[in-house]
Amino acid sequence: MIDTHCHLTHAKFAGDADDAIARALAAGVTACVTIGTGVDDGVRARELAHRHAGVVFATVGLDPFSSRAAGPAFDDAHRALAELLGAGGFVAVGEIGLDYHYDLDPRKIQAERFERQLDLAAGIDLPVVIHVREAHDDMAAILKSHSRNVGVIHSFTGGPEEAESYLAIGWYLAFNGVVTFKNANEVREAARLVPLDRILVETDSPYLAPSPKRGARCEPAFVVHTLQAVAAARGEDVSILESATTANARALFRLDR
Ligand SMILES: [Zn+2]
Repeated sequence: MIDTHCHLTHAKFAGDADDAIARALAAGVTACVTIGTGVDDGVRARELAHRHAGVVFATVGLDPFSSRAAGPAFDDAHRALAELLGAGGFVAVGEIGLDYHYDLDPRKIQAERFERQLDLAAGIDLPVVIHVREAHDDMAAILKSHSRNVGVIHSFTGGPEEAESYLAIGWYLAFNGVVTFKNANEVREAARLVPLDRILVETDSPYLAPSPKRGARCEPAFVVHTLQAVAAARGEDVSILESATTANARALFRLDR
């Protein structure tokens, strides 16, 4: 199985990322996509990917938090991002997106900055990892108008209606540990209607450890619990879902090139 979204460069993995990767491999995880949030973190993510070639893959983007931190210097940050991506070593642009929960920047500015990065990704032919919080309607509308982009809605925790709006335009949906939580019936309902060729799993480590690890620091090895919960929700054999999500991750991020 493949953990399509983790933050192995996060401070919570300081001194432990290599061991966490070893535990993931021992648990049957064959690859991890580690997400660089901001240019500096992207450089660290790429270093980690180089050290674990073929197992760890890196992305980089200016997520809503990095974008807010850049403030009026966003143009400089965007230029540095384009340079870093141009130098190679990344499998996707992201995470990037809209966050209306924290409303870090005015929504119009969030959208502008997000769309510039969508265009950047399309221009260099990389898929996109989307962060979206309480902004599904605007997100679906923006993605619909950017038909050159392909990618994944990461940590999808919406219901069936939101899932449909992304599936209709060909996007992948990635489920995280939330799908294992007792009260997450809507998310499990959404997981049931995703076609087998559009579904992915992730941990979002170090956040959101799945049950029965809830409350612990999350790590890529735990993706097995998410995979099992999604399979149970779909009434599907775990091995079938494991092969499908692995093939989907390899295809979307072009891990075999
Ligand atoms: Zn993330």
